[in-house]
Amino acid sequence: MIARPPERLLVIGAGMAAARFADELARRAPGRYDVTMVGAEPRGPYNRVLLSAALAGEIDDDALALDDAGWRSPANFRLLSGCPVASLDLAQRFARLGDGRALAFDRIVLATGSTAVRLPIPGAGLPGVATFRDLADLAAMREAARAPGRVAVIGGGLLGIEAAAGLAKLGAKVTLVHRMDRLMERQLDARSASFLKRAVERRGVDVRLDVETVAIAGEMRAEALVFADGGRLAVDFVVVAVGVRPNVELARAAGLAVDRGVVVDQGMAASLPFVHAIGECAETAGQVCGLVEPAYAHAAVLARRLAGEVDARYLATPPATHLKVSGVPVFSAGAFDAADAEAITYEDRSLGVSKRLTLRDDRLIGAVLVGETDDALWYRDLIRDSVSVAAFRDDLIFGPLFCNRGEYSPVKEAA
Ligand SMILES: Cc1cc2nc3c(=O)[nH]c(=O)nc-3n(C[C@H](O)[C@H](O)[C@H](O)COP(=O)(O)OP(=O)(O)OC[C@H]3O[C@@H](n4cnc5c(N)ncnc54)[C@H](O)[C@@H]3O)c2cc1C
Repeated sequence: MIARPPERLLVIGAGMAAARFADELARRAPGRYDVTMVGAEPRGPYNRVLLSAALAGEIDDDALALDDAGWRSPANFRLLSGCPVASLDLAQRFARLGDGRALAFDRIVLATGSTAVRLPIPGAGLPGVATFRDLADLAAMREAARAPGRVAVIGGGLLGIEAAAGLAKLGAKVTLVHRMDRLMERQLDARSASFLKRAVERRGVDVRLDVETVAIAGEMRAEALVFADGGRLAVDFVVVAVGVRPNVELARAAGLAVDRGVVVDQGMAASLPFVHAIGECAETAGQVCGLVEPAYAHAAVLARRLAGEVDARYLATPPATHLKVSGVPVFSAGAFDAADAEAITYEDRSLGVSKRLTLRDDRLIGAVLVGETDDALWYRDLIRDSVSVAAFRDDLIFGPLFCNRGEYSPVKEAA
């Protein structure tokens, strides 16, 4: 019997989702595909999540590499770094690289991630204005922190806070400017956000809320932020951290169905069956993701599909955020700020712990935990499974160990 030649599989993007996918595929279908991974960045896959820890000097840059992955070793894996893909011809099945080379494929996976959004304001393109997405940004921020002068970070979400705290740790004078009335307003209620603000201020960051930046002034480079109320802040370096946008231009230009992301089904197939998308560039059931956990889940589902598991499906979990924000654990899930819900709150200012649970009809519908998140997954499951907490409602805020009368008690389950 003549063995079938391996299918040529082209992966565009060499980020976190791509690395995980290649690793899973190598384990699940060894030798079945001839994989070429093409990445725009000059080096191979690295752990983008750890860029914040690298900025803060908590880990060495060597610890960023994702080289534990199986894709490095097998003979039928090839990585081309520093090679942005410029266009796709899906009819002829080849990709054109920026340097003009063409790569033929039988099947293609888009894992192009996202790009940091630049503010549409005057001065946003001046030298001295950076974003926080990749190793080049990390290098620029480190250099800025070494120079004397003031750094401003625009944006009070996760990335803005991490950038501000990391720069402050490196010795920079940092002001964090946010247009909303609280930090991380999409994940935190007002009280929890005020706890986080205090924690960030303790790290030496000057936090200014309700401040809208309308321009970045400067002749040759950024010199000042200009605010909507006419105020100004003299700066030497600016980091813009106001969100990300999925990289979908290649897919759109190639004629694939694109909404916010590349539209894929639960098996991660795009509008042509030999095209797939995973990670932050993919849109499943109307949702794009901005966190690594769903990106890894996409990668695993696609690898299982391509290994022959025809029933492997990606099922979106209810939105939940479980992060360390510059060292402070933060968890947020469900309708934590619903106006018509009952709320149970607990706070210990000296420990920097704040908890808020929201309930409707004796069912937990939302939770926000700041400073102490050991019980986060238990709360998440109670929300997801819409469990009646009537039997242990009074102790709910203290976590599962105090709720051992309830049907959702890990103590009882373990017994
Ligand atoms: C500083 C920072 C901290 C973060 N912290 C957390 C956290 O605590 N928790 C969490 O869950 N998530 C965090 N994230 C988000 C997380 O890193 C992303 O969700 C994850 O990296 C998404 O993986 P991806 O493969 O989809 O995209 P990426 O990792 O961005 O990879 C996409 C790759 O594709 C390349 N590419 C794009 N276009 C092309 C092209 N045309 N040709 C070739 N290559 C191309 C890009 O250069 C990039 O290398 C953080 C992100 C940053 C920047």
